[in-house]
Amino acid sequence: MMGHGSNGVDRRRRLKKVPHLNNSGRKMIRIPKSIYFKMVEHAKKESPLECCGILGGRDHAVEKAFELQNVDQSPVRYAMAPQEQLKVFEEMEKDAVEMLAIYHSHTHTIPFPSETDVKLAFYPEISSIIISLKEKDPVVKAFRIGKEAIYLEEIEVIP
Ligand SMILES: [Zn+2]
Repeated sequence: MMGHGSNGVDRRRRLKKVPHLNNSGRKMIRIPKSIYFKMVEHAKKESPLECCGILGGRDHAVEKAFELQNVDQSPVRYAMAPQEQLKVFEEMEKDAVEMLAIYHSHTHTIPFPSETDVKLAFYPEISSIIISLKEKDPVVKAFRIGKEAIYLEEIEVIP
């Protein structure tokens, strides 16, 4: 344990109390409304290309969003620039938040992981969030993509 002093303890305590399981015991992720809409705006801005980004936070509650460049510049797939990713990891470490989710958009298809998404899901322990722009109103869904199965994860939008 590193001695981090007692500053900022109250904030952490409050977050610790936040339950991260819904009524049926399934995992869920909490996203502040401002970050939720920021993701949707990012998706719209990059459309028809897919966008991508990383969400950082604590105890299943998102605190920060990082927009990354889709180096594939493609409407059907995405890849995050390794250099940018490193910078985000460093920043998250500095802020003492962990990576909770990777998000990307589907500009023409439903919000469900594509075959490519499944193949490229390297982090089964974090959420994969997909913002679909297929319909007039954007749809946002979260998943855990494991080797054997894909689990739907509940998103709770918090104030
Ligand atoms: Zn996808």
